[in-house]
Amino acid sequence: MGIFLDLLFPRKCVLCQRILSRREESLCAACRAEIEPRPMGKHKLPHIARWYALWDYEGKVPESIHRFKFRAHPGYAQEYAKLLAQQLEMLEFPEPDYISWVPISAKRRRNRGYDQAQLLARHLSNEVDIPFVRVLNKTVNNPPQSTIRGEAQRRANVLGAYSIDDPEYVIGKKLLLLDDVLTTGATAGECARVLLTAGAREVALVTVGAVPRIK
Ligand SMILES: [Zn+2]
Repeated sequence: MGIFLDLLFPRKCVLCQRILSRREESLCAACRAEIEPRPMGKHKLPHIARWYALWDYEGKVPESIHRFKFRAHPGYAQEYAKLLAQQLEMLEFPEPDYISWVPISAKRRRNRGYDQAQLLARHLSNEVDIPFVRVLNKTVNNPPQSTIRGEAQRRANVLGAYSIDDPEYVIGKKLLLLDDVLTTGATAGECARVLLTAGAREVALVTVGAVPRIK
């Protein structure tokens, strides 16, 4: 059955889209050798206890994440989650009580058909066997951060954009938020600020890509 499905829907490398051999998983051998996962993030992000990004957001990575977000490749979430789970285990990333995500607004979700960070959180939750819950809602449909220049402007753009969904999953809890790309940390920092204000014990962040200057 596996072989039959592979003929109908060949599995492809998430980075270069080459068709994978039976022994390759998520990435082709060339991309696996060429694109090294990042170490733990050292740069201090506001309100975030610790963070990790799988790859630098450069080379083949932006295209891959773009296909995931905008060209209806929701299946990438599972591939990214497998790779993230391997790295988090290797790095002994502390386990949270719950896995959650940086949500997009209801309007954007309707347009896209899915919330990419929610898919990442759900698949990572499966991989590491830690429950995934919604802790935040995005209540304001502000302009995308990618259209805003400057760190202070980006912080202002997301200020007050998120609210707590269910305090039961927040108060006294260690939370891990998933997102697709870490650019300045303004969005995730605002989410963490709201969660800590509501009583979360700590908030960590995991993304697929991070701009190379944030280490
Ligand atoms: Zn590849």
